[in-house]
Amino acid sequence: MGDYFRVALVTGASRGIGAAIACDLALKGYAVALNYKKSREPACNLVDAINASGGRALAVQADVGDSSEVGEMVGEIEKRFGGPDILVNNAGIVRDSLVQNMAEEDWDEVMGTNLKGVFNCSKAVLKTMKRKRWGRIISISSIVGQQGRKGQANYAAAKAGVIAFSKSLALELAPWQITVNVVAPGFTETGMTGGLTERARAGILDRIPLRRACRPEEIAGMVSYLTSKEAGYISGQVFNVDCRAV
Ligand code: NAP
Repeated sequence: MGDYFRVALVTGASRGIGAAIACDLALKGYAVALNYKKSREPACNLVDAINASGGRALAVQADVGDSSEVGEMVGEIEKRFGGPDILVNNAGIVRDSLVQNMAEEDWDEVMGTNLKGVFNCSKAVLKTMKRKRWGRIISISSIVGQQGRKGQANYAAAKAGVIAFSKSLALELAPWQITVNVVAPGFTETGMTGGLTERARAGILDRIPLRRACRPEEIAGMVSYLTSKEAGYISGQVFNVDCRAV
């Protein structure tokens, strides 16, 4: 099967890192389904732009934390494009506070989207991938999932969970030539980090050797590589898109 006929689902693709990943995969020739939860207009605008430039794209609404919505979304993609061959678990949220002040719902929401969302979407695409005996699952974690960060215990725990989940799933799916990997970005300029105060931002940049934030396109490049034929022997691995030694 030529790569052109492969179908990719990118969750949380209405903006930020997910939008950059979806655009890059479309440029590589994949048909792309762009998932969003609330941001319908930006997702549809991106889809229009991809289709206008000769690509094949579709916007699909679903809360990744809700397994029945995820099931319906995957069913719709199957009907329109065929089952996803590539899944990029990118959707994520933050609800930051110190543990002593953290509301139970802030813990549950972050786990529901960032960790259960990865489980829901991965499970929903397995049947098609196993049937085709080919597949790529790439999940976006964070360096925070490896290092921890004050005020982000819920987010760090969910992102560490994504790594452990992916390493386990990689072992389960290897017999079907389905690879499962993790990309862990450092501080990246998006809406997620846009709410920081100038002081907090300057403090973060001060600790980054390259003295700048990562660009979403730089994460998209790593994800695209992991979908490629050349990356077929890479599974169960974590790739940091960061400039600090660990
Ligand atoms: P962002 O700009 O806030 O975008 C988040 C995306 O996720 C949006 O498209 C949003 O869509 C979608 N989303 C949120 N909850 C969802 C749900 N329940 N179901 C489906 N879609 C949902 O965030 P970003 O910075 O691009 O982050 C993307 C990923 O990279 C996340 O997993 C994040 O944790 C990770 N990451 C980010 C950074 C960083 O510094 N920015 C660093 C490391 C890792 P709607 O607007 O429609 O809800």
